Amino acid sequence: AGTLMAGKRGLIMGLANDKSIAWGIARAVAAQGAELAFTYQGEALEKRVRPLAASVGSDIVLPCDVADEASVDAAFATLEQRWGRLDFLVHAIAYADKQYLRGRYMDTPRDAFLQAMDISCYSFASVSRRAVALMPEGGSLLTLTYLGAERVTPHYNVMGVAKAALEASVRYMAVDVGDRNIRVNGISAGPIKTLAASGIGDFRYILKWNQYNSPLKRNTTIEDVGGAGVFLLSELGSGVTGEVLHVDSGYHVVGMKAVDAPDI
Ligand code: NAD
Repeated sequence: AGTLMAGKRGLIMGLANDKSIAWGIARAVAAQGAELAFTYQGEALEKRVRPLAASVGSDIVLPCDVADEASVDAAFATLEQRWGRLDFLVHAIAYADKQYLRGRYMDTPRDAFLQAMDISCYSFASVSRRAVALMPEGGSLLTLTYLGAERVTPHYNVMGVAKAALEASVRYMAVDVGDRNIRVNGISAGPIKTLAASGIGDFRYILKWNQYNSPLKRNTTIEDVGGAGVFLLSELGSGVTGEVLHVDSGYHVVGMKAVDAPDI
């Protein structure tokens, strides 16, 4: 435990269960003294999120479906009532119909494309606009992305295209709010076995591939992402904005492996 984030209040969006990347970040920032609020999507998740929130001392647990403007407004109205201000926001939300996380990207129908873009990309700008209004003294906004935004990875398809737009959003938003001392960054996490990831075709193979071929020779954990989250959300990251930080055991630097790579 430390005090790097003592006195800071943050909203964590996208907690589903204790495997969620949002949980890795929440636990790490709470261990540094941050006070937290959470949103969850859909009643089914409330019973999972409430006890997790309680375990890090939070009783602010609000429903929020980012596809529904009224729901987002209601969550931020309650948050404003409870806290009045905010220091940081974690956006750990993505969705695409898993029917299209296989096969050819170019076969994605318009409605599935727009839904993936809406929930996985537009929502970061939409919730950030409301968060920034509660940050008169500066703050830090963080989202989660994946290598499939930069290069083609198996089955990521429409989600890769949405993540590319999300990473561009990080850069545009960094300029939008930089003069208010608000920083905007993304973490590009290596593959982690979560609820969302289970929708991606051949995910077990993708995990193995990354384990064998990354410089660190292991998969990324939610604790790895939590550590980077503390950096970007605290004053440690005070000079960093518009950045996409890879937390992936170094996998993104590898072009090709030598012949002694183990067979998989
Ligand atoms: P997760 O399933 O634990 O979290 C995804 C969250 O998105 C869930 O809490 C879900 O409720 C929420 N969500 C979906 N649609 C929503 C909506 N309409 N409104 C509000 N919330 C909604 O999975 P995760 O892997 O922890 O995902 C968190 C983020 O990390 C996502 O952006 C994901 O793309 C990203 N990411 C994941 C990996 C990985 O391998 N797991 C790698 C890189 C990036």
